[in-house]
Amino acid sequence: MAIAFIGLGSNLGIRQVQIQDALDHLQQDRKVKILRRSSLYETEPVGFRDQPPFLNAVIEISTQHSPQRLLACLQSIERRMGRQRIFPWGPRLIDLDLLLYEDQLVNQPDLIVPHPELAKRAFVLVPLVEIAPSTVHPLLDKTVAELLACLGDATGIRRYRSREKFKHG
Ligand code: ADP
Ligand code: MG
Repeated sequence: MAIAFIGLGSNLGIRQVQIQDALDHLQQDRKVKILRRSSLYETEPVGFRDQPPFLNAVIEISTQHSPQRLLACLQSIERRMGRQRIFPWGPRLIDLDLLLYEDQLVNQPDLIVPHPELAKRAFVLVPLVEIAPSTVHPLLDKTVAELLACLGDATGIRRYRSREKFKHG
């Protein structure tokens, strides 16, 4: 069993329903157990800014999948939910990113772990710190709470729905 963190994002359609659908899909995987989930956060788009705001969340899972297999599962859920790659950084129905997998380092053409943007993205760090502040980034050798403090600027990230409300629908 490995502990991993997954980032979820959506900025099209009924965003909250899409995030919940993705969680339901993951829950149906016998090799994945969701241990903790963050609140939902509404966040301003970064990169390509002229698009609707995102809802973001982070979950902690335990899994028997390898990192590669886990990414394949996440991409399969994205496809089943009808995600189309409109353009990089563009709007999406659902985005599932593998953020951390134990303290493993993966550097392959189609999979980089820890996620390369992790330390730069407040919309990932804020929900991650909510559920697991002392998790250490294995490359940077800092806790995610320290990374968020280094980033400083978490403007444009606001709690949309508390963890309790999110959990019970
Ligand atoms: P982004 O999430 O950065 O907005 P995409 O979801 O379109 O962009 O992902 C683009 C590519 O990133 C995917 O084809 C995938 O193979 C690759 N990738 C590399 N590392 C990861 C990771 N840790 N989690 C998710 N995707 C990753
Ligand atoms: Mg992605």
